Amino acid sequence: MSARREHFLRQFLIDQRPEVVDFLTKNISIPRSMSPARVHGSSSPFSLQHQGFAKHILECANPSLGITDVTTCSATQVFKTFGLLMMLVYRMVHVPSPKLIVFPTKDTAQKAVSRKKLQPLINGNPILAERKPANKDHFTDMEMDMLGGAIRLTGTNSPANLASTSEQDIFQDECCKFEHHSNEDSPEAHPMDLADERAKSFGADAFRYKSSSPNIITHPFWTRYEAGSQTHFLVSCPHCQHRFPFEDWPDKTHDDRHPGYEKVGPDYRSLVWSPEAKDSRGLWIEQKVRESIRFICPACAFPIPEDCRLGMLDDVEKMDLNPGASDRNRSFRLPSFYSPALTFGDIAWNRIKPSDLFANHQNHANSWLANCWSDLAYNVKEETVKQCISRDYGRGALPFKPRLLMITADPGERLTHWEVTAVDANGGLFVIDWGTLLSSRELISAEFLRHRLYTVPGTGEKIVPQVGYIDSGYLTETQYDICQASGGFYWPTKGSDAKHGAINETRAASRPNLKLYTYSDTQAKDELYGARISRHTTPGFHLPSDADADVILGHAGQMKDKSTNLWKKVPADHYGDCSKLALMGLWIARTVPGFM
Ligand SMILES: [Zn+2]
Repeated sequence: MSARREHFLRQFLIDQRPEVVDFLTKNISIPRSMSPARVHGSSSPFSLQHQGFAKHILECANPSLGITDVTTCSATQVFKTFGLLMMLVYRMVHVPSPKLIVFPTKDTAQKAVSRKKLQPLINGNPILAERKPANKDHFTDMEMDMLGGAIRLTGTNSPANLASTSEQDIFQDECCKFEHHSNEDSPEAHPMDLADERAKSFGADAFRYKSSSPNIITHPFWTRYEAGSQTHFLVSCPHCQHRFPFEDWPDKTHDDRHPGYEKVGPDYRSLVWSPEAKDSRGLWIEQKVRESIRFICPACAFPIPEDCRLGMLDDVEKMDLNPGASDRNRSFRLPSFYSPALTFGDIAWNRIKPSDLFANHQNHANSWLANCWSDLAYNVKEETVKQCISRDYGRGALPFKPRLLMITADPGERLTHWEVTAVDANGGLFVIDWGTLLSSRELISAEFLRHRLYTVPGTGEKIVPQVGYIDSGYLTETQYDICQASGGFYWPTKGSDAKHGAINETRAASRPNLKLYTYSDTQAKDELYGARISRHTTPGFHLPSDADADVILGHAGQMKDKSTNLWKKVPADHYGDCSKLALMGLWIARTVPGFM
């Protein structure tokens, strides 16, 4: 067949593929067992009434859009499993191929999903039922040999079930409840990632849908959400038509730069109720709270009553908080406000009710607000970094004659960031210069090196850096070449997940003659961001008086979670990484007898 003809025929194929919501509306009835609260009688037609957001998520399943990853971070009971099954049945018909559905346990997959939802859905809709196998033995709870490709269900608690098969579509629900057996001695990939691996051979045709209520910031599910478009749904104020996303902000914890909330003052609360809704002991009375509840418009302060909410949910606009995300990677956040079944009163009461649940705050954040819970050991804000600014020296100037002067560099795809750091006799780190290069090869250029000459105050002596360390994570062999070409000035480095043993001297795998320094990333961050920057412990970390926004922000945003003791991965921390290497350089220097 000629390529032209093939291309022509492919146009037919795409034209024949309906939009997801159109397909579902025309062909699908929802059985009562799937949604007892909403379906009266044995089944009702598919409908998105009061769920205006749902169309934006469901359409992602249409292969014409080229989307490979969808991550829905949602409150409990809001859309998650329903959305998953609706995307599944659309693709069962329009993208026939093997599909894998993953739940936390086999029991949930079998009883709560396969028997109660998926099988009644298939059996009750002719367009799906006609795809069932003739042989009943091939249509079981956990494996359905549908026309075009089998559907397999599994639980992450049944061993080996995530290996050995290949599926184009991977649907995973309640990812934050997956059991992950891993420790430092035998690290194992997260089940979520193992499942995604199954679609690897399908490349850009793969489709990976994940949904869950979130839990903590370092969980891989939240990381996936953050990597996607971070789409929020904006409703419109019935009074002033201002667009904003529904959020539960009880106090000054809210971020007033959150889109839609730019105009609110420090005393703004989103949900308010009568201050008199209390009994004689000062405890909230549920009935009175519910009767007086309203949502305050963040623009005009109009009190929006509950009976306006459902209408507002029919007319939503989407807004991406991560416009830099790949077009193929969509993520969504759905707090409880977007559930037609819950009310303003339900949300407020869940927050303030007397609870014997030890972690009610966390539960409210995760399961109701679809936010991750952060109980942070460290949170390095811009203000914290600014406190490291010293008044005693300016950029490009040495504050003293250093014990050690180093260049450190973090090569990346677009830019290589570098810093020059001076170390004083106590081990204090003083960043004196920084910048970016288009390629890490420039680190050995005469032009770059000629300008790395610094004057010792008092004596006027000119000195140059004694040693350099380069992160070899990006284009490893290129960085090795540069280190070798420098004749022992630059050394390659590599962060490791080891929690013990700060530094290690090894050999580059491909160059037996080249020394490679590995260091514990956690220990380096603990000392740099935890001790030196957050707690200002001596001997400290210092920036010059004229430190610019690039270098300040390059050290901000680091967070360490208390429960996992892990530092969150931060995308644009290149200058921070340079400082981390300077700290490592200090550790190496200290192993030399007589250095300090
Ligand atoms: Zn308004």
